[in-house]
Amino acid sequence: MALIVQKFGGTSVGTVERIEQVAEKVKRFHEAGDQIVVVVSAMSGETNRLIGLAKQIMEQPDPRELDVMVSTGEQVTIGLLSMALLKRGVQAVSYTGSQVRILTDSAHTKARIQQIDDARIRADLKARKVVVVAGFQGVDEQGNITTLGRGGSDTTGVALAAALKADECQIYTDVDGVYTTDPRVVPQAQRLDKITFEEMLEMASLGSKVLQIRSVEFAGKYNVPLRVLHSFQEGPGTLITLDEEESMEQPIISGIAFNRDEAKLTIRGVPDTPGVAFKILGPISAANIEVDMIVQNVAHDNTTDFTFTVHRNDYQAALEILKRTGVEIGARESVGDIKIAKVSIVGVGMRSHAGVASQMFEALAKESINIQMISTSEIKVSVVIEEKYLELAVRALHTAFELDAPARGAE
Ligand code: ASP
Ligand code: MG
Repeated sequence: MALIVQKFGGTSVGTVERIEQVAEKVKRFHEAGDQIVVVVSAMSGETNRLIGLAKQIMEQPDPRELDVMVSTGEQVTIGLLSMALLKRGVQAVSYTGSQVRILTDSAHTKARIQQIDDARIRADLKARKVVVVAGFQGVDEQGNITTLGRGGSDTTGVALAAALKADECQIYTDVDGVYTTDPRVVPQAQRLDKITFEEMLEMASLGSKVLQIRSVEFAGKYNVPLRVLHSFQEGPGTLITLDEEESMEQPIISGIAFNRDEAKLTIRGVPDTPGVAFKILGPISAANIEVDMIVQNVAHDNTTDFTFTVHRNDYQAALEILKRTGVEIGARESVGDIKIAKVSIVGVGMRSHAGVASQMFEALAKESINIQMISTSEIKVSVVIEEKYLELAVRALHTAFELDAPARGAE
């Protein structure tokens, strides 16, 4: 008998019919003898609708009151799903975050879970009940309703699984797993059977939108096995775990991530003296702008060129700051470029294989794609290229690292 937490996203509970289908699925697991805790999101579009209502009254809605109202989306779906289970003769009971007592800090609209009281849920499970919990919400010390940030139901699911020491946390969604890359860009992309927390975290921060990043961090920290599955199709999904299997078949690269969210800034001809990097980036970080990649190079005339990337939303502000800094420190010029894209290869296999980066550069060279910046970590190599070559680069890398699915009809 296993204890399983099953989380269903907004599209999976988007209509009454779908809620009935979810109830059928839950019932099957329950009848097989498993102990089941279900976490649900609001019906798809509902959270946006509620935020829209709030904005009609206040352009910047009061955060406490916004949490009071947006948390109602999930309160509707827990009630409906519990009814659908009861109708099928399955003992079920629903709880809001505050009824469970999912204790969070008081950072409204982006609260963090601090503690979960598992007493009530454990007693219900012992009585063979299915427990249905509202995702995305909690309660602070003072009893205020809080929410965990968009997509936060994933985190509720993982946190409950951690607190209950569940055997698995299953995330049911509208895709059948985690893919080697976005199938819209590479039709030969394949579903991964397994991926490590670390790899998934890199994929998620680099733009893969299957799971909320915080939920992956949480799962890794508490070693909660996570499985991404399709709500209404059968299949094994993708298991996200700790262990890095040493298998011969294990590819070196698990996936290719990419995004168009960044912009590049360069300051040229800066006198190369100690403290220059701080003088350039100090004012940027003082403005609360996050810097991602950085490259610095010293020229023969003892000046340096310094390039870094920021989120596109911060581009204008960063460029203005950089121009001011340039005048102060006597740089030759400050320029920027938003037509860039970042492409990354991710894989724990890199730890035990040399030459992965050069293999990547070779594949890009073959397509005559110029690399503007490079950064590496233990399990990732990222490059910045011209945006118009993004799709070409991702396809070339997917092939070079042998991630393409075998052609249909072939062996
Ligand atoms: N309903 C919330 C949202 O739309 C939480 C979730 O779906 O995970 O962001
Ligand atoms: Mg979601």
